[in-house]
Amino acid sequence: MNGNESGRGRRRFLGRCAVAASAAMAGTVAAVERPKPKDALRRRTREEVGYRDEPYLGRSCAKCVLYQGHGECVILEGPVSPNGWCTQWVPASMG
Ligand code: SF4
Repeated sequence: MNGNESGRGRRRFLGRCAVAASAAMAGTVAAVERPKPKDALRRRTREEVGYRDEPYLGRSCAKCVLYQGHGECVILEGPVSPNGWCTQWVPASMG
């Protein structure tokens, strides 16, 4: 191996190190930006989800998969009406 080949090998190695370091930093940044589980589980306010006490286009809490019955919603603070609706509505059935 002459000096030229050795230099190319060193440059290739350093290039791979730089790529690995960039990937590691990107992973760190992604971990920092990812919402914390505690925040994801936080219940939302009525304002955050645009809640209202009446149905919207036939959609209501009673027909939402997140409605737990007895005026409770998985993601919303406080009681909700079975006839209410918010922007996070998800159909309880596909039929
Ligand atoms: S429509 Fe909104 S407030 Fe009502 S149950 Fe679904 S997610 Fe909760």
